Amino acid sequence: MLDSLNKCSYGVEAKLEEAFNSIGKKSGFVDIVARFAPYKEFKNTWKYSNKSIQFNISDYMKGASYEVLEDLAISLYSKLSENSRKTIYTPTLLSWLKSKEFIEQNQALYLHRSRNLSLDHQGEVYDLQDAYISLKDQGFVDDCPDAVLNWTIRNNRRRVGYCSILMQVVAISSILDSIAVPPYVSEYVLYHELLHLQDGFRPDRRYHNPDFRRRERLYPHWKESEEWLRRLSY
Ligand SMILES: [Zn+2]
Repeated sequence: MLDSLNKCSYGVEAKLEEAFNSIGKKSGFVDIVARFAPYKEFKNTWKYSNKSIQFNISDYMKGASYEVLEDLAISLYSKLSENSRKTIYTPTLLSWLKSKEFIEQNQALYLHRSRNLSLDHQGEVYDLQDAYISLKDQGFVDDCPDAVLNWTIRNNRRRVGYCSILMQVVAISSILDSIAVPPYVSEYVLYHELLHLQDGFRPDRRYHNPDFRRRERLYPHWKESEEWLRRLSY
């Protein structure tokens, strides 16, 4: 049993090494190291000198197939050889990142690494799950079956809501979980974050585009909510 587990985890690392070695050799590198790194957010880093290169690849890629790892290797090598800002998010990588398996394999780990989340949708005053259901019932948002809703632990004043689209995790600042703040304020912030989850990951990161702003303003209390958020941020 132990033996097969060891082999299994060796297999993933070896697959990564192999993908990065085979592509790297074609790009003229001789000494190539590629390993998984436990970054909280999905990211990949590298450093190189002459013909040596070392990659730290997000360990959220551990469950990816050899083809996806190879595709990532091709993107990263071409990015660094052309020293370009070009995106690494090819259709192959995107379809892995947006897959059900990706969420199943990584969401719990991501939550574990997120230090400012209460890991609970029920706050002291408001329940984010209720707010989500109400938004859904009113037709503002679609079903988000994988979304995990959390209050933050710290009372963030400026960053009152954020989300990881890849991980389908939403965080709403606990500063809004108070009887002094009307329920529509946290519901509005939740609405904003759920719109992001619904729109999905965009490699160009233009999330707050005019169409997004238009939909955001469909929320009946958006003006009062914005006013509240402005006041709370001081
Ligand atoms: Zn936003």
